[in-house]
Amino acid sequence: MKINKNAETVLKQRYLIKDENGEPVETIDGMFVRVARAIAEADTLHDEKADTTETEKIFYDMMTNLEFLPNSPTLMNAGRDLGQLSACFVLPVEDSMESIFEAIKQAALIHKSGGGTGFSFSRLRPEGSTVNSTGGVASGPISFMKVFNMATEAIKQGGSRRGANMGILRIDHPDILKFIDCKADNTEITNFNLSVGLTEDFMNAAEAGREYELIDPHTRKAVKKLNARVVFNKIVDAAWRNGEPGIIFLDRLNRDNIVPRQGQIEATNPCGEQPLLAHESCNLGSINLTKMIKKEGGSAVFDWEKLERTVENAVHFLDNVIDVNKYPLEQISFTTKQTRKIGLGVMGWADSLLMMGIPYNTEEAVQLAEKVMAFITEKGRETSRKLAEKRGAFPLFAESTLPQDKPQRNGTITTIAPTGTLSIIGGCSSGVEPVFAYVFIRNIMDGTELLEVNPVLKEKLEERGLYSEDLMRRIAKEGTVSHIKEIPEDIRRVFVSTHDISPEYHVRMQAAFQKFTDNAVSKTVNFSNSATREDVAKVYSLAFSLGCKGVTIYRDGSRDEQVLNIGKVK
Ligand code: ADP
Repeated sequence: MKINKNAETVLKQRYLIKDENGEPVETIDGMFVRVARAIAEADTLHDEKADTTETEKIFYDMMTNLEFLPNSPTLMNAGRDLGQLSACFVLPVEDSMESIFEAIKQAALIHKSGGGTGFSFSRLRPEGSTVNSTGGVASGPISFMKVFNMATEAIKQGGSRRGANMGILRIDHPDILKFIDCKADNTEITNFNLSVGLTEDFMNAAEAGREYELIDPHTRKAVKKLNARVVFNKIVDAAWRNGEPGIIFLDRLNRDNIVPRQGQIEATNPCGEQPLLAHESCNLGSINLTKMIKKEGGSAVFDWEKLERTVENAVHFLDNVIDVNKYPLEQISFTTKQTRKIGLGVMGWADSLLMMGIPYNTEEAVQLAEKVMAFITEKGRETSRKLAEKRGAFPLFAESTLPQDKPQRNGTITTIAPTGTLSIIGGCSSGVEPVFAYVFIRNIMDGTELLEVNPVLKEKLEERGLYSEDLMRRIAKEGTVSHIKEIPEDIRRVFVSTHDISPEYHVRMQAAFQKFTDNAVSKTVNFSNSATREDVAKVYSLAFSLGCKGVTIYRDGSRDEQVLNIGKVK
């Protein structure tokens, strides 16, 4: 197996089964056998005579060749007692003590198993409203979020994952201004990512500078009016300051809600790529695009046949995961199996562009992104339809918005995850993000320095006899390849990194993938430190007009600055 040192370290520390002394009792290869076997087993649920050894081999090969990897909980827990395999959950929070603390309990069980949870707090009555039963005063969504945050803090997920949450509040909630600023001090609510749920009405009102109404979710009465543009600018300002909150476009999430009769989509998983109904969960998996490239006539191009085969096997794999998964709650098991959503995505996109010699920030790259994702979604649907012939459509298919002439096994097929750890295991760039830095210097404990060089850059420079440690140190110091004169122009042009790419191209790339993704796309739009609030506002408008489902931005250095500003020590 060709895995690099970092991958080996991550797998040994966090994925392999360990004994009571913390020593691994399985090898990395053993882990992949365990996962392939457990997931292949689901074939027998649909066909007693199914040859699971054949399927197991296909799954094993696909993972050990690093062509496809399922989300972390599947790698950690498949074939084990815990057996919880999903990364993404959304839990409902209703306006009652029972519901709030039930959600905290459910989230605790999910975090323990390595999953992440998303919540909408929009149904909670605002701070200061009365509580009928006691005649007291409600403390509002933000104060309860802090309780959720503390519960997460207390569960360190048995050392594997720390616990992650998404908190969402609708733009028309009376406590919205407090929500927008509640992470201004970035030592607060640290186990949450926050997003404001925007509506198209609000976006239009902001554009026109009109007022809009804040509605008390408890009484359903309008309690106040605010100027939409002023509130929009407050969101921009907070995000400019330290990257939070993000925004999501609720109407858009609901336009793609395949079963609107089951309710509205109000929240997403922690990183925003998976909108879900209350009590739904979803398991993700990512194809490593760098392994889908072949040499043809001296140049690197996509191997569409291999990609097609990989999509087929990945959809088969993810559909099986739904059946062998041990859900933390009966209700989650039921709701998840009603729609059987899966989230197949990609990683290594930026590295693939480098291999093909296409700069990330070009029209060519944007068009290729659409082509690749359209292909994956199309082939994924075909596979899901073939599975439906054998295994049946998902139970709510008949009431779904999907074309009724072709039963589908899975309500959604595609999602683009951040692949934070999967990309380390796969040894490729993460998700659809550009390369952040081509060379890192890692200090190891005995005082030596280890150079970590992007494998595609290394290969290119070696081909031309230009590779040297000195040069790598300079790249590490300058942070980019594009400013180093000794490197030939044609390489500098292609090896762009995050900060060489304009925010507009970040958004355009996100939008290109979103256009052909059933669920959503995890992407951070990166700004240089000198970016202005107007730059951020422009990106929000662009994301809205290009059809993105949400945006997360980050301005270089803004979190460190914030800590200094408020005079706290890290
Ligand atoms: P990985 O690469 O480990 O499979 P990703 O970075 O792709 O994970 O994240 C995918 C999803 O997994 C997130 O959106 C979130 O739902 C969940 N997740 C990620 N990190 C955590 C964490 N520390 N705790 C709980 N859930 C997480």
